[in-house]
Amino acid sequence: MLNELKTTNEEELYEGESISQDVDDALITCDSLVKIFKTDEIEVMALQGLDMVIKRGEFLSVIGKSGSGKSTLMNIIGGLEKPSAGRIVVDGKNLSEFSEKEMIRYRKETVGFVWQKSSRNLFGYLTATENIEAAMNFTKRSHKQRHEKALELLEMVGMSHKANSYPGQMSGGEQQRIAIAVALANDPQILLADEPTGAVDSKTSAYIQDLFRKLNRELHVTVIIVTHDMKLADKTDRVVMISDGKISTEKIMKEQYKSKFDAMEDDYDMDVHEVFSVMDKAHRVQLSNEMLKAAGIDSNKVKITMEDGKLIIVGENSSH
Ligand code: ADP
Ligand code: MG
Repeated sequence: MLNELKTTNEEELYEGESISQDVDDALITCDSLVKIFKTDEIEVMALQGLDMVIKRGEFLSVIGKSGSGKSTLMNIIGGLEKPSAGRIVVDGKNLSEFSEKEMIRYRKETVGFVWQKSSRNLFGYLTATENIEAAMNFTKRSHKQRHEKALELLEMVGMSHKANSYPGQMSGGEQQRIAIAVALANDPQILLADEPTGAVDSKTSAYIQDLFRKLNRELHVTVIIVTHDMKLADKTDRVVMISDGKISTEKIMKEQYKSKFDAMEDDYDMDVHEVFSVMDKAHRVQLSNEMLKAAGIDSNKVKITMEDGKLIIVGENSSH
């Protein structure tokens, strides 16, 4: 009975949507996610009803101003935070229904994390190989299997030559490459990276971003990267912009560029993405300050009319 009830609710949920979403191959579904942080007297609403569907195998970046809710979203997807309201479903499972034990397993086996601070990614007293092996502790793999897997991953991230080095003997970029290998140790379905290149120079950042692309293509792992750097974000297939705890805009790489992209030079000067505004479940769309300014809209009321099958938005004081 309970199951029946759930199915009906789910159907209703998607029925009301005007945008067709490919729910079938969804790996991650964020459904009206709300996250409220309470500190002393104040409450901060970090996510304000965020809706998003991420497909299996996507290579996606999340951008947005500091404090817009990017890390909160990553932590919820990674099972480190629970939403205050709304639902997060990963691979058909509602994370809120996980027991403590299932959640620990999810964090260990389904997701891999790469953080900005290398001290959060790596143990300073272990070598590169040992760091990767340590990530496989408490798995069924034998020591030999762990060691072989570690060497395989080191090669994949181009760090075989530093197998026996300690993090302190590596550059920031090299440490992040080891961190990526650590994150992949248990073959996660999802690789989450929260500003992974925030502390390295731009050339190294570009290299690491290309590495994420390669891993996405070769391992079919779904990659979600939070970045401040628009140039790095533009190297991903989809760029999702968060503002005030909701998705406001999406940029999707044009189909014809996806396959060509690997071969491209670093300094391409092309518009490879198409930009979309995102409509929420109640059909609200956010207009950017730039759009409003360009259209001369300076009050909180607009007129929406239909012309030739197109919706036209004009300011209340506009003469047109
Ligand atoms: P971003 O990663 O985009 O910079 P965050 O997700 O870290 O943003 O934060 C979103 C909002 O939630 C901010 O206003 C931040 O101060 C607040 N916030 C995040 N984590 C906590 C926390 N643990 N306790 C209180 N407030 C928090
Ligand atoms: Mg953050």
